[in-house]
Amino acid sequence: MRIGSGWDRHLLSADRPCRLGGVDFPDCPVGPVGHSDGDALVHAMIDALLGAAALGDIGRHFPDTDPQWRDVDSLDLLARTAALIAEAGWRIGNVDTTAILERPHLEPRIEDMRAALAAALDIEIARVSVKATRGEGVGPEGRGECVTARAVVLLIPTGEGGRES
Ligand code: MG
Repeated sequence: MRIGSGWDRHLLSADRPCRLGGVDFPDCPVGPVGHSDGDALVHAMIDALLGAAALGDIGRHFPDTDPQWRDVDSLDLLARTAALIAEAGWRIGNVDTTAILERPHLEPRIEDMRAALAAALDIEIARVSVKATRGEGVGPEGRGECVTARAVVLLIPTGEGGRES
């Protein structure tokens, strides 16, 4: 098996739509700044997946200098990453993510995020965990300036063609 970790942070700005964990928050007055949709939670998950398979990072596969990825739906990048992982001989055991932010309030949409992420990864919802916590007034997250996300992934070799057990 292989373990991978990911981390991402995006500034929050009033002129941006808010999308996190593949779910839209139309009532949120701020959204993540980014070349893509700025979905830090999905980006952390992508880096964890690529890291576990030692396939580099999100910037290598989806560079923000490439206009192809401008305003792209990060769930599309996540699905592409899942395909890369499968091609390399791995399947996902589980993914666990934590978002640190003041707003939007994620808790009411956690199950929607799990469903969206699981669909993009083509795995059961039971393998996908999304958690949210607040910065409690401390640091840039606590001041509402940014969203930070962390992810941990376990990969399992896919039997025949799997690289190792
Ligand atoms: Mg990012």
